[in-house]
This record gives sequence, structure tokens and C-alpha cells, in this order.
Amino acid sequence: MTTAVTTEITDGIAVVTVDNPPVNALGYDVRQGLADAVAQTDGDDSVRAVVLIAAGRTFMAGAEIKEFGKPMQDPGLPDVVLSIESARKPWVAAIHGTALGGGLEVALGCHYRIVDARAKLGLPEVHLGLIPGAGGTVRLPRVVPVARAAEMVATGRPIRAQDAVQIGLADRKSDGDLRVDAIAFAGDIAGDPLPEALVNRAPVDAPDEEKWREIAGKLVSKARGQNSVLRAVDAIGEAVQLDGTAALAVERQIFTELMQDPQSAALRHVFFAERSVGKLPELRGVDPRPLSQVGVIGGGTMGAGIAVALLLSGLHVIMIERDEDALAAGQGRVADTLMASVKRGLISPDKRDTLLKGFIGSTGYDALAQADLVIEAVFEDMDVKKQVFAALDAATRPDAVLATNTSYLDVNEIAASVADPSRVLGLHFFSPAHVMKLLEIVRPDQVADDVLATGFALGRQLGKIAVPAGVCDGFIGNRILSAYRRECDYMVEDGATPQEVDSAMKAYGFPMGIFAMQDMAGLDIGWAARKRRAPTRDPKERYVSIADRLCELGRFGQKTGAGWFNYPEGSRRGEPDPLVENIIAEEAAKNGIEQRDFTAEEIMDRILGAMVSEGRAILEEGIAASPEAIDVVMINGYGFPRWRGGPMFAAKVAEQGNG
Ligand code: NAD
Repeated sequence: MTTAVTTEITDGIAVVTVDNPPVNALGYDVRQGLADAVAQTDGDDSVRAVVLIAAGRTFMAGAEIKEFGKPMQDPGLPDVVLSIESARKPWVAAIHGTALGGGLEVALGCHYRIVDARAKLGLPEVHLGLIPGAGGTVRLPRVVPVARAAEMVATGRPIRAQDAVQIGLADRKSDGDLRVDAIAFAGDIAGDPLPEALVNRAPVDAPDEEKWREIAGKLVSKARGQNSVLRAVDAIGEAVQLDGTAALAVERQIFTELMQDPQSAALRHVFFAERSVGKLPELRGVDPRPLSQVGVIGGGTMGAGIAVALLLSGLHVIMIERDEDALAAGQGRVADTLMASVKRGLISPDKRDTLLKGFIGSTGYDALAQADLVIEAVFEDMDVKKQVFAALDAATRPDAVLATNTSYLDVNEIAASVADPSRVLGLHFFSPAHVMKLLEIVRPDQVADDVLATGFALGRQLGKIAVPAGVCDGFIGNRILSAYRRECDYMVEDGATPQEVDSAMKAYGFPMGIFAMQDMAGLDIGWAARKRRAPTRDPKERYVSIADRLCELGRFGQKTGAGWFNYPEGSRRGEPDPLVENIIAEEAAKNGIEQRDFTAEEIMDRILGAMVSEGRAILEEGIAASPEAIDVVMINGYGFPRWRGGPMFAAKVAEQGNG
């Protein structure tokens, strides 16, 4: 028997413990150990029932990453699950932490499941371009309603313990000591006849064709070209039609097919990139400064979103605004956002009330005397930012960390406005700040290591993916955005319509096109930035004035009912506007351009080309530390399709394909 799995028998109940830190991944030792444990407990007449439990912080949380992409050494996971399922003794899975992927598949092989009240259960394989490969798609719809099974497999989203009980995935919930409760449960069922193996059962329900089309259609519509989602839906469809054994063969076939799919390689690239981009060797061993009270300056779109993110992570927040009216508006935004979270069932009303108790507002900087960190999110204007930082310098403790959420401005210049610039850094959040996962951590020249470490610690506490970025106009993401936006402007002046550009991007896998996105964010922000840069613009460089002309007409996007597109009566779906087409034609004529047609392919080639060449420049200048950092930023902040691996990865794949 391997040391990763041990069995202890007391009063006829065998407790099989998996201990493979840090997350009890299902490597060879664990698989062999489980197979041995089945043989041992089957062969021991004193054993009446078996409890399968894991040591440490979680149940088995999935495959062994070290074995990823290599052929699996026997026994394979599907066989291990089958052997548990066909054991002669009843097995009870006792689940705490996260039972994900292979972990949940092992639990589905068990005859019963008991879950710790805080446990989460899921099949996230789609996120790696795969589907479950050890019977998950076959057994899940045989224990929970087919619609729920399809949702879990196709979205990869884990569910909570109480939902698992409600839909039948778990038999019991433990609110106390899981091990004790699991042993008691095993004692209760030890004398019952062994339940029929899931694989031999019929699906829980059988949606008729119309209902299934509706369920599948909804899931597929969110796939945006991601094969694993489409195939996950197919697998569930087959699992419901076929008998269990035949369905297992189909699952294996789809799994093997997806393993070879370039999309899976791209998604694995992103998986590893997201886990490595925020690990800076120079910060190893550097302790972050402790955080408890955080100030937020400005209660607008970003300030309010940042405040919500901070509150949700358990920090106390002090919001500063310039006057009472603006403060009331900012506080109102925070309260409304938390209320929306209550309505969506994300937090309880009690939790909202508790969070609001940790939230105070003020129009005076004195309130920040004890703040550990302050995040500035006022207007994007250097003079305003400098005034705010001067006030912060006077009001805060000398060891408090000061951060700016600026999108484009020079963080070195902002840092120079305080006596000790080593305590200043950029924390560039994305909108809505309590939802978006990306956080660019901008490193000005003089920032202290522990200040930087504090930025990364905050990122972790907020559940963000933190990417270090150097100081430049737009850091990583906005700088690349400016580059491909410019390319799109060129194409529009040359004859592609804004809706053609947007459709090409959507067909590539973006959730929305660049023009609809600008309309959503507001055209005024970019307009202000262009006016600011105008004096330093190279007069020889091509400049497209179409967006400026839209802004001159007060067309700032959705919020004004019109921008690149029209939004009649508050609609969010933009419609092409002949007036915009006229402006485009006029600008083209003024600049002597003979307009021509563009194919979707050419549009995307140009956009990707612009992204990649700006990406390479950013790497050369040291603004981004690696191509992976660029991919992570574009995927998590700008809608680049994850399954394409990011612009730098996609370019590398294309080059290899051509070479
Ligand atoms: P906003 O106009 O919605 O909010 C700015 C707020 O700052 C207003 O409520 C205003 O009253 C307040 N304010 C202005 N001067 C102040 C002062 N001296 N003291 C206290 N409060 C003051 O703007 P926003 O969209 O939230 O952007 C804020 C910052 O975040 C900008 O630097 C912007 O570039 C950056 N940013 C914006 C986004 C976005 O998508 N909106 C994304 C990332 C970063």
C-alpha cells in the first residue's frame, strides 16, 4: 500500500484517508492506494462499511498537475472509480474543501456522499478544454436532474454543499465534525442492501427532445466557440440516451479527442500563466504590510466598485469624496451594489448589514489617520491626482501605502508628489471592480519591495489575478487596447463598418466588439486622453478623427443614447446609425481615402497584428515581464477568448503552424 492512502478499521468501519499535500491530487500513489484499499476492505470480513476522507485542507481537488499531458500510469482513474463503485462494501465519501474534477468523480464512484457545510463540488474540466474523463458525465445525471448535471459539466462552476444536498448529489450535510458524522452515517447504512451502482442506473429524469434542446441551447449559446463546452453538452446528451457502460465509452472518446485539441493546450497555457504571473522572485521572503483599514478616494464608478470589493474581502473601508452630495452618491452606489448581490443570492441580507457597518464616509482626510492603505480613484487628471496625494501625504501615517487607480497617467509623477515616494504604487482595477478578476500592479521606480508585496497580498485577499506592470502610458492592457483601437479606426476610415469590425471580433470569440465596448465604457474617457496627448502627437502619424467628431456631437455612448451606434430608449443593443456612416464617409473623403471592403479574416488579422506588435514592444521595454503576462491581461481584462490562449500565445501557434 502507498503512504498517500491509509486505512484504519474501528468497530467494523474502515476509514480510508487520502493524504497527498497540498490538495490531495489524484496522482499515481493515490490511485494505487485507493485500488489497494478497495481490495483490502473487500477482503476483510470485519469491515461493514468504508468512509473515504481526505487529510489537510481539502478533499481530492483534481488531477495531478505534474502528470498533465502524459499517459496515465495504471491504474487509471476510470478504473479506480469503477473498482470503488463495484466494491462489496458500501463506500461513503466524506467531502470537505473542494471536490473538483477527478475528486468529485471518485466521490461519484462511492455509494453515498456526506458533505461538510462549507464544501464545494464541481467538474471544472471545461476550463482546461476537456470534459470529465472518469465517468463524471455519466454518473452525475444518474444522481442529479439532467439539467443540473449539464449545467455543472458545461459551465464548470462548482456548487455549494447545501445545493449539493438539495439536488441529490450529497446524501447528508455535516455541520460539525465531518469525520465523526461520516463514521456515524456509515454505521447507519452498513446493514442496508448495497445500492445499485450509479453506472447501472437510469438517469434521474429524461427531458423530452424539446426540453433538452432548450437546456443544451442555453449552455451552447455561452460557449462562444469553445469546443469543450459544446462537447460537454454532447457528452451529457449521450449519457442520458445510452446505457451507462456505452456512455462511459463515449465519454472516453470525447475526452481523448479534446486532449488533442489545440484549444486545450491554449487553456492549459492560460491556467499555468495565471498562476505564475504574480509570483515575483524578488519578493520572495518579503513580508507585506498588514491591512485592516483601507481608504478609497472618490466614490464614482471605480471608487464604489473598489470599496465593494474591499468590503467583501473583510476589510474596513473609509470613502472620501469632495463634498456631501458626491459622498452620498458614492455611498449610495456601494449600498446599491451590495443590495444587487443580495438579490442575486450572492450574499445574505445579514452579511450586507455587517459589511455596511465596516464602511464609513467622510469629506475630510482626517478620517484616514489610521488607514493602512489608501486607493485613489478620482478624475483622470494629473493636477487633481497630485492635490489628492499631497493631502494624503499630510493626513496618513508615514507607513501607509498609497495607491492610484489611474488608467494612463504617469505613476512616477504621482509618486513624486509625496515626501516618501517609496510608499506609492499603481493598483489598476477594471470595471466593475468587484467583479473583474484582473488587477494590474504598477511599479513606479522608487516603490519599496514591501509596498509592492502589500499590493500582491491585497490582490490575493480580493481574489484577483494580479499582474505586475511597468510605468508607461496605459501600462499593459490599455496600451495594447489603444494600439488595436487605432488599427480599428484605420480600418473603419478605410471602409470597414463599425458593425463589421465588431462582428469579426465576436466571431473570433470576444464577448463584444471594440466599438460596442467603447459605447459601453463611454467615449468621453478616450476623448479626454486624446486631447491630453494632442500636443505631443507626431504630426506625421495617421490620425483618425471620427471618434472625436462623435464626441463633439455629445455622442458619448450608451449613457447618452448614442455613440458609434444608436441605443433607442435605453436599449443596450446598438443599432447602426446613418449619421455615423456619413461622418465616416466624410472623414475618408477629406483624407483622400478610397474606401474598400474588408473580410472578417482581414479585420482579425489586423487586430491581432496590432496587439502582438504592441505586445512585443511592451516586452522589449520591460513593461510586461513575459508574454504570459500580456495574455493574462488581455484575457481577464479585455475579453480576449481564453480558449485561444491570449494574443501572444495565438501568434506563437500561428508562427509554428506557418513554419
Ligand atoms: P468617476 O467620474 O465615475 O468618479 C470619480 C469620482 O471622484 C467622482 O465621484 C468625484 O466626485 C470624485 N472626486 C473628484 N475629485 C475628487 C477629490 N479631489 N477628492 C475626492 N473625490 C474626488 O470616474 P471613474 O470612472 O470612477 O474613474 C476614476 C479613476 O479610475 C480614473 O483615474 C480612471 O482613469 C480610473 N479607471 C477607470 C476605469 C473605468 O472603467 N471607469 C477603469 C480603470 C481605472
